[in-house]
Amino acid sequence: MPHETTDAPAVLFRGGTVLPMDDAHSVLTDTDVLVVGDRVAEVGAGLSGPDGTLEVDASGGVVMPGMVDTHRHMWQTAMRGYGADWTLTQYFVWYYLESGRHFRPEDIHTGNLLSAWESLEAGVTTTVDWSHGLQTIDHGEAAVDALAAVPGRFVLAYGNIQAGPWEWTADPGLRSFLDRRRGDLYGWQLAFDVTGDPAFPEKAAFEAARDLGLPVTTHAGVWGATNDDGIRLMTDAGFADESTVYVHAATLSQDSYHRIAATGGSVSVSTESEQSAGQGYPPTWQVRRHDIPVSLSMDTSVWWSGDLFSAMRTTLGADRSREHLEAHATGDTVTNVHLRAEQVVDWATRGGARALGTDEIGRLAPGAKADVVLLRNDRSPVSFPLLNPYGHVAFQAQRGDVHTVLVDGKVVKHDGALVGVDLADLRRRAEATVDHLRSVMGEEAWTAGMNPAMPDADDKVLDNPYQYTDFRTDTTLARGSIFGEPGAGEA
Ligand SMILES: [Zn+2]
Repeated sequence: MPHETTDAPAVLFRGGTVLPMDDAHSVLTDTDVLVVGDRVAEVGAGLSGPDGTLEVDASGGVVMPGMVDTHRHMWQTAMRGYGADWTLTQYFVWYYLESGRHFRPEDIHTGNLLSAWESLEAGVTTTVDWSHGLQTIDHGEAAVDALAAVPGRFVLAYGNIQAGPWEWTADPGLRSFLDRRRGDLYGWQLAFDVTGDPAFPEKAAFEAARDLGLPVTTHAGVWGATNDDGIRLMTDAGFADESTVYVHAATLSQDSYHRIAATGGSVSVSTESEQSAGQGYPPTWQVRRHDIPVSLSMDTSVWWSGDLFSAMRTTLGADRSREHLEAHATGDTVTNVHLRAEQVVDWATRGGARALGTDEIGRLAPGAKADVVLLRNDRSPVSFPLLNPYGHVAFQAQRGDVHTVLVDGKVVKHDGALVGVDLADLRRRAEATVDHLRSVMGEEAWTAGMNPAMPDADDKVLDNPYQYTDFRTDTTLARGSIFGEPGAGEA
């Protein structure tokens, strides 16, 4: 059943704090944003829309462009949280070597559907589906079907970890698939990694990408998987350009960063991922010194959230953490941090747009595509006071504060609820995928996969030379108890 709000010819956000994400990172207080059709018509004070305009009270809230996630393995979403304690090695074993091939087209469809709604719910209006589980063209069809069924903006980065990129890009079936489905999504990329093999077998895949007119997105600088050799091979061969997206780019030399900067590519930083999985230290502290454009991404919900508020928060924290650490190593104190809250909000919006080679999204200005997010939560004590809007978005806000979301001028979330989603159906589909994987894996492998072994060395608590008191058995400690009088209530 279509929601009444989806048919409004225009939407007017009234009286919000607007972050237009212009070059100056302006803050416009008590400002209206008028959307007509699929575009932002006006940003200003005292605006009015045509008859039938849906007016949304934005007072006390923040109006900002929809966020852009430049790297998410959406097909993995039905395994939400399963790999919470994994390392990258365990991820590779599970998805690349053992269980990834068990995903049927309907499982890809389910993961994508779930992930697509998850994006919209969190104000992520554009998501790059880094879809490397497309073992057959049917899997690709299922991925597109799911994304096309959800009213978000999606870029399919086509990939297949079950074959070499020089193999699957040579498949004539891929060409006809692209011919058939290319118009169904916002954009397309090819997704594959460059191992650093001196024979450079990925050259054929780069040539296919060039032939198809598609940008390449690649996991680069991933500890133990991809390194400087891959960057050198692709830059020397002339395949690196401003459309190239380097995901993680965490374990790289200065030379590689120079090469990326000189060829105009951008880095997609997945801080939650890099912090847990071990690709390398989240690299913004390096790449910002090379003036390499940055976008943010969430990687996969098998481990982490799919929430760019978290990406902004962890990225700011990781960058500052490193800056302090580097300074302390030389006895210095950081008194003014370099990375500011407004910069991570920029990366989460226009940084993503730039990585996709467009400026029609990621900003709020007349003529821009109407992908708009209103953060407003009247039920939350965290929604006020709104003193520093960029700081508020980066450190205070969360997905539950996403009140209204527009994609292409259409209301996809309103008053805190997704419009047109069938959660019961999504839940059934997710359960079917889980049931399938669990049964083909077997119960033992399923349980072992979710509970990686604890390394032995960590079992031991270090010897302590100080033994002032044994607090574990010291009954006098009860005197300091917050739970009442000493000894009271004890039998
Ligand atoms: Zn990834």
